[in-house]
Amino acid sequence: MIDSPLLKHVQGYINGRWVGAQSGQTLAVINPATGETLSPVPLMGQAETRHAVEAAQASRIQPASIEQRKQWLNQIADLHIEHQKELGRIITLENGKPWKEAQAEAAYAAGFYRYCAAHIEKLKPRRLQEQPKNHTWTVHHRPAGVVGLITPWNFPLAMIAKKLSAALAADCPSVIKPAEKTPLSMIALFSLIDQIGLPAGKVNLVMGHADQIGQVLCEHPAVRVISFTGSTRVGKLLIAATAPHIKKLSLELGGNAPFIVFDDADFDHAADHLIQNKFRGAGQTCVCTNRVYVQQSAAEAFTKKVVSRVKTLKVGNGMEEGVGIGPLIDRGAFDKVKGYVDGALSRGATRVAGQAPAAPQGGCFFPPTVLRGVTDEMPCTREEIFGPVVPIIEFDEEKDIIQRANATEYGLAAYVFTADLKRADRVVGMLQFGHVGLNTGTGPTPEAPFGGMKQSGFGREGGHEGLFEFTESQTIAYG
Ligand code: ADP
Repeated sequence: MIDSPLLKHVQGYINGRWVGAQSGQTLAVINPATGETLSPVPLMGQAETRHAVEAAQASRIQPASIEQRKQWLNQIADLHIEHQKELGRIITLENGKPWKEAQAEAAYAAGFYRYCAAHIEKLKPRRLQEQPKNHTWTVHHRPAGVVGLITPWNFPLAMIAKKLSAALAADCPSVIKPAEKTPLSMIALFSLIDQIGLPAGKVNLVMGHADQIGQVLCEHPAVRVISFTGSTRVGKLLIAATAPHIKKLSLELGGNAPFIVFDDADFDHAADHLIQNKFRGAGQTCVCTNRVYVQQSAAEAFTKKVVSRVKTLKVGNGMEEGVGIGPLIDRGAFDKVKGYVDGALSRGATRVAGQAPAAPQGGCFFPPTVLRGVTDEMPCTREEIFGPVVPIIEFDEEKDIIQRANATEYGLAAYVFTADLKRADRVVGMLQFGHVGLNTGTGPTPEAPFGGMKQSGFGREGGHEGLFEFTESQTIAYG
């Protein structure tokens, strides 16, 4: 069982109070490195969610000033840093990622609150310079209403930071639903937020039956925006369920990131960045490289560099010193990743790093694996692997690679490595991905907008664009 000063209440949080499930039922949170139960958490459903939405709606009668919101955002950022180690430990225990990486996530999360605080003045009303129709005109960025924030398990603190920072900046009260596998980090965050004295109802936490909670968020008229990060499957359900109610959605869904290496690239640099990008969260992030395309003449040399680096990676319990890759989140994830590797091997690919994974006992550890001779038709290329597997695919010409990289329904992240900046311009301009790393494998940052094209979703988090996600423009003409 987990014991933490940040988990004195392992409950939901509605209208400024810690609450359990009305049914008294609970759900177990499991440590993916050991298979042990960390804690039961309340299994909530429609009734609790309705209560949370109503509390959030009621809190709207007391709008907060920009100065007040800025102060709250900075306080939340400070608390992330002050409790970075313990927040990181809770993330590691329920998600599995290495403790160091989990602490970096807490700092990254703090960055979103800090950024929104620093740029909140952008939400002040503006007066038009023109005076059309002989009137004065002003534009106000009003809070859209109650917002539903639904997050996945792969970044238990960062994903809520992207959403909650912008919601608080816009003065929207929220009803937050963490993933079933990682609610403890969210509860810990709420124990910190509880200290800063937000008005009751401003932030609410429910957890449990995802479909029931989702249904209330989609149907309740007070909920005006739903911001969701997760699978394309659930994203489509939310689009359908909100259609009759005309709600704004912000969706960050699946990805299938190509990592393109031209033969003039710096191979050491590209290999270093591939490792950092690919093995973050054991390959379970939506911006993790899914397909590595290497120009034919470079394939041998680049593969060698990747393989030598992969062989140094240590897999294990994320709480242990020196571990770079933790377990996969659960047995389902393990079987899926194994299926992609087996599928590629049976269709002619070769495993050049890693070995056949041992059947999980306690934790679902998967050896970092490199496959060569992969083709565009294999399932590991067409679908999101979400595991520590690097499929290497060869290409010949620039024009081919643009078309092949774009040949996916997803459009979240892509990476291009080349020394020829003219070529880089040509290629990047044609890539249909919301985030492109040029000679870098870096992912998003609080200062820049991030989001998908095509079936990777719509809406942006981070940057000025993200700051406006939960606002509605109201125009006033003064007669
Ligand atoms: P993953 O495959 O990464 O677990 P999901 O899309 O299943 O992604 O989950 C992401 C988040 O969406 C989680 O918080 C999950 O509980 C939630 N979720 C799952 N199904 C629904 C649903 N029908 N309505 C609302 N949220 C849902």
